[in-house]
Amino acid sequence: MKIICIGRNYRAHIEELHNQLPENPVFFMKPETAILPRRHPFYIPEFTNELHYECELVLKINRLGKHIDQKFALNYIESIGLGIDFTARDLQQKCKKGGLPWEIAKAWDFSAPVGTFIPKQNFEDLNDISFSLRKNGELVQQGNSKDMIFSFSKIIAYVSRFITLKQGDLIFTGTPEGVGPVKNDDLLEGYIFDQKCLKLKIL
Ligand code: MG
Repeated sequence: MKIICIGRNYRAHIEELHNQLPENPVFFMKPETAILPRRHPFYIPEFTNELHYECELVLKINRLGKHIDQKFALNYIESIGLGIDFTARDLQQKCKKGGLPWEIAKAWDFSAPVGTFIPKQNFEDLNDISFSLRKNGELVQQGNSKDMIFSFSKIIAYVSRFITLKQGDLIFTGTPEGVGPVKNDDLLEGYIFDQKCLKLKIL
């Protein structure tokens, strides 16, 4: 499987990082080794001094698809969950400045923990899914799929023009504003509506 991540998909987050509004979805990838296995502890990697959480809705793909028409794109979603697109912000700033790829900042081992997935049919409206992240009990991020610049359908159609999607692939759909640092002993808890779908202790 592979992990595709959309960047710059919520206006207020683009503004907080002083980025440009994109014309098309911006995406990058994380390898399979970025998944944090169940019950595996999460440690802050030694190569960063500024590790940021980015809480995102994550789509799990249910079948093979290439050049997917936007009209049918939602048929390719099996379930939806939450994930953290962990980012070594200090390294990312260096990469951006040098016009270099982001892998050392974004694609390292265990940089993409995901929680429990909820079957697509349990959602009334995929374009109105609210989610939030709490750090040590305090609300730090709040988003809704209706505020995405590029909808799930647009993302799937666009990505599949370039890369074949396969069953089990994950698409991180971008983070809303409120990204910030984590340190040892922090507790991250993610919610889709009122349902807790993700819990992660930082070691
Ligand atoms: Mg992200």
